[in-house]
Amino acid sequence: MQVLREIPFDLDSPSLMKRAHVAQNCADAVEFERFVQAARSVGRPKAGYREAFIDLKGEQTVTIEGITFTSRILRKNLEHAERVFAFLVTCGRELDQVAVDGDDWLAAFWWDLIKGELLSVAIRHLAEHLDRKHLLPQTSSMHPGSGDAAVWPIEQQRQLFALLGEIPEQIGVELTDTYLMIPNKTVSGIRFPTENSFRSCQVCQRSACPNRAAALDEALWATVWHE
Ligand code: SF4
Repeated sequence: MQVLREIPFDLDSPSLMKRAHVAQNCADAVEFERFVQAARSVGRPKAGYREAFIDLKGEQTVTIEGITFTSRILRKNLEHAERVFAFLVTCGRELDQVAVDGDDWLAAFWWDLIKGELLSVAIRHLAEHLDRKHLLPQTSSMHPGSGDAAVWPIEQQRQLFALLGEIPEQIGVELTDTYLMIPNKTVSGIRFPTENSFRSCQVCQRSACPNRAAALDEALWATVWHE
């Protein structure tokens, strides 16, 4: 198990303002900059991971260090893998200590955007760390609940958190009874070496998603239910 607590970051105010549709040199810009400064001063993005080895592969299950995951796509993606990296990355609980008026939807939207930026920094930091330290070839990741619901059901967060062991507590992440994570800008998953890159968007039918990063792969999507 390894925990990364010292993740360097910088926040580019002009670029964040552009994404938030805040014009520079206006009253909103002053307020937005105040949020950015708050994030700079208290933000502590973090990540943790555990290298784990596959015990057993079933028809639609994979058992990793005694914990069984059920997902045909995960099973397919791990066809040639022997080890994986279970990981958890977060913007950091410190950001939730900053007082943001929950009734002010614009302020809440800005703060969520800034939190998301810190999460992105931490995701990149972990990926670079894993590649460098473990000399990984091409890798992809899967996340419970990402893509169509049946791909890797979100309920399997329970198994993933069991595999992560003490990492959630070490980096201040909590899993709720409804399988959501606190802080909200947190990502959990399994990273694995693969010859064919995989993205959850390939098995997600949400056509109107503005964040789609890969086209729907009908053939791959069909394997969610059967080979
Ligand atoms: S298409 Fe959108 S909702 Fe679906 S997996 Fe990709 S980013 Fe997520």
